[in-house]
Amino acid sequence: MNSPHSFNQAPELRQQIPVDFSWEGIDRVFLDMDGTLLDKYYDDYFWEHFVPENYAERNQVDIATARHLLLTTYRSVENTLQWTDLDYWSDRLGLDIAALKREVSHLIRLHPHIIDYFEYMRRIGKKLYLITNAHPKTLEIKMAEVGLEYWFERMICSQEVGLAKEQPEFWDRLQGLLPYEQERTLFIDDTEKVLHSARTSGMRHLVHIARPSSRLPVNFSSRYPSIATFAELLF
Ligand SMILES: [Mg+2]
Repeated sequence: MNSPHSFNQAPELRQQIPVDFSWEGIDRVFLDMDGTLLDKYYDDYFWEHFVPENYAERNQVDIATARHLLLTTYRSVENTLQWTDLDYWSDRLGLDIAALKREVSHLIRLHPHIIDYFEYMRRIGKKLYLITNAHPKTLEIKMAEVGLEYWFERMICSQEVGLAKEQPEFWDRLQGLLPYEQERTLFIDDTEKVLHSARTSGMRHLVHIARPSSRLPVNFSSRYPSIATFAELLF
């Protein structure tokens, strides 16, 4: 799940800032999951449509009312760990969110060229780490669909760190769990606010994913080097 910033937001047309690192200068790659490796369409559909439909049915309200109420509720906790906490949402909405996620898990898809990219990283000796705000239950549901665990040295959920990636202190605390060299680590994420927090903490190499959802157009960052697909990192 990403922060709900993108709801109803019209993309601006911006020029692509090209990536500016060489693989010789990188030892580790930190990868976000939702929107970066996986198609964010699943998350958008789930929170914007599937949850409101189920909430409407359970509470005998119309879908438009449920949707309006839920989008407002989501915004009230954006950029916090609560936003990704399935137990929090299950309690707050009176719905079994993990069970609902499993009901539509067939919509969980990898973005194009991910496996090509992973194979390339293995060939040139770069270590991969999954660094996600997703709740451990969400991670489990998604990995059961796409089976990427094998590629990572380690997978870290923000819950383990105790802060969301949007919070700059996240990155200092992460050093306690997983010491890394800021100058030789590449971090890839589809949320600018997350990239900004990593930059603030001193992370040197950042790449923005300009097409988190297959259903939305490419939207380049105005501040960070962007790629539309991982094929652009096979150099
Ligand atoms: Mg993301």
